[in-house]
Amino acid sequence: MISPSFSDVSGTVTKDVQTALGAKEAFAWLVEGHERFKNQNPRSRDRQSMLEGAAQGQFPYAAVLGCIDSRAPIEQVFDAQIGDLFVARVAGNVVNEDVLGSLEYACKYAGTKVIVVLGHTSCGAVGAAWNGVEDGNITSLLAKIKPAVETVQRDRGTEGSAENLNACVAENVSVMCQTLREQSDILAGLEDEGSIIIAGGVYNVATGEVQFTSQP
Ligand SMILES: [Zn+2]
Repeated sequence: MISPSFSDVSGTVTKDVQTALGAKEAFAWLVEGHERFKNQNPRSRDRQSMLEGAAQGQFPYAAVLGCIDSRAPIEQVFDAQIGDLFVARVAGNVVNEDVLGSLEYACKYAGTKVIVVLGHTSCGAVGAAWNGVEDGNITSLLAKIKPAVETVQRDRGTEGSAENLNACVAENVSVMCQTLREQSDILAGLEDEGSIIIAGGVYNVATGEVQFTSQP
């Protein structure tokens, strides 16, 4: 079977195209989209066609768990449009029960082939976790980032330099990818059978580039 090419998608991704797409090809679509973003060469698609496709249903090829940070706009970074991506955004791109349920739905019931956990440089949530901030509901959110903080502080020391904090961002992405596997039998099972790929990446807010920290 010939894998569908993203350049053949004129409106939204259809069920047939999504079904024919393997996990590695779906990951390649994300990488290609990011190349277009970096090259300032976004692909234009007819808005009316996309809306008509959207009215029929959704068949996204990937899901991204990103941070709420305004400087890391998920769809733009992957040059994605209507119907392309499931996007979950929460400060520090942390995994919780509702994120797990959302991603389980995306992959098991809506046919999505890839999950990318996308951290970003200069993440305020990671910085706050590093500094032990406690306030309101922020405390329990930051507790989810603590394992990454502890690992990086043990390996690199406690100085809050940009290098150390960005190392913590990458470590946190790795922890969250692992958490998806450990806390979701559905996602772990889909990954084991090769139906989905779980990958991590860090978006650099200064250069506009994603560095994939783990990939197929
Ligand atoms: Zn952030």
